Amino acid sequence: MDDQSYGKRDKRGNWAPNAPLMIAPFWRGKWNEMGAFVKDYVWPWNAFHMATALLYWAFIVPDVETMKTMSWDWALYLFAANAIGIFALYGAIELFFYAKRKQETRFKYNAKFPSEHPSDVFWFKSQNLDNFLRSFFIGIPIWTAVEVVMLWSFANGYHVFGWLDVQDNWIWLVALTFLVPAIHEIHFFCIHRLIHTPFLYKWIHSVHHNSINPSPWSSLSMHPIEHLLYFGEIFWHFVIPSNPIVMMFNSHAVGYGALNGHIGFDKLEITENTPVESHAYAHYLHHKYFEVNYGADGLVPLDKWFGYWHDGSKEADEKMKARFRAKKEKIKKKQSAPTPAE
Ligand SMILES: [Zn+2]
Ligand SMILES: [Zn+2]
Repeated sequence: MDDQSYGKRDKRGNWAPNAPLMIAPFWRGKWNEMGAFVKDYVWPWNAFHMATALLYWAFIVPDVETMKTMSWDWALYLFAANAIGIFALYGAIELFFYAKRKQETRFKYNAKFPSEHPSDVFWFKSQNLDNFLRSFFIGIPIWTAVEVVMLWSFANGYHVFGWLDVQDNWIWLVALTFLVPAIHEIHFFCIHRLIHTPFLYKWIHSVHHNSINPSPWSSLSMHPIEHLLYFGEIFWHFVIPSNPIVMMFNSHAVGYGALNGHIGFDKLEITENTPVESHAYAHYLHHKYFEVNYGADGLVPLDKWFGYWHDGSKEADEKMKARFRAKKEKIKKKQSAPTPAE
């Protein structure tokens, strides 16, 4: 595919889409865009997360009697499934698009490949190895632990309102399934903005931001406290009337779905003429500029409402720079203000 008909490449070889990012059409009153929006909302990513949640439910999640008792047996089994699943999905993108480079740099925001740029900020100077180890030895165990707590609670009937069964509550559960990405955007925006406060950024979130040019393994490369806050989203299903399948869908949307923001390519050429939208641009800009786009795609446009939204346009860039300048000025003024002792 010709990426030049969709975007521009600068002198350094970095590619950016022509079309600015858009918040969801219902916030802009563009009802005629709803059809395309819903299709994009469901296919392929959320459909994929629902499919894996159902596969887990059918073949991996143990029966209710087993889950009534916490045990290493089923916890480790679930961990193995998660580790294999993440390895297969993230690994496939890494293999085809970063190792084999089947698409070269077409639709790639940053023309560089992390493996060619060793850096001291990473374990063993390697972004890939550092990110991989943090994901598998810290991220996936914490994610699995949260799932184990939720499934054990389900088996024992622990829930603020009681777990709902599908037969009697399917209308609400379908609605809740559609609301999961909105829950995700609100939760992620809040915890993410929180860990961008100076102290928490320095000690916690800077680990994730070491990857300025993110690649698939960057997705779950975080400080353990960030993992807890991030996967803590799944605990909302304790206080929302919910069902374990919807909970697992939410869990997969954050576990497997963390990939999306870190794919590094705008489109993936699965075959010659069928590109898959990565939905990576908003979060790519976050990794590039740090203090923009704390949420996701603008489904619940908190970034827009709080003035952090960067849609990739020149105007958004100017606005961001003005905001950064004002912030610098404010800090400067604070530092030069005389203290009472003086
Ligand atoms: Zn990220
Ligand atoms: Zn961040």
